[in-house]
Amino acid sequence: MKTSTSTSVSKLYCNIFGHQYDVSKLVTKHVKEYTCKCCKKQLTTNGNGKLTELTPKFKEINSTLESIYARRMSRLKQKMYATTAA
Ligand SMILES: [Zn+2]
Repeated sequence: MKTSTSTSVSKLYCNIFGHQYDVSKLVTKHVKEYTCKCCKKQLTTNGNGKLTELTPKFKEINSTLESIYARRMSRLKQKMYATTAA
């Protein structure tokens, strides 16, 4: 007889007790990615600030957001340095 995998047990656990989400990545100040400690299901914050499943499409959006955010942050820092210098 085949034994069930740990993944299906985790999924069953999550179905009963709910997912145990942990922040796995900070994309921007407002957008985060979450991973369930139990079954590794991933969520992200969408444009409406609601949580949604992290699909490959959202992964793509998030990586774009991340690079825009990083660029903006570095530009902001440069601006701040310029102001302090002047
Ligand atoms: Zn889960």
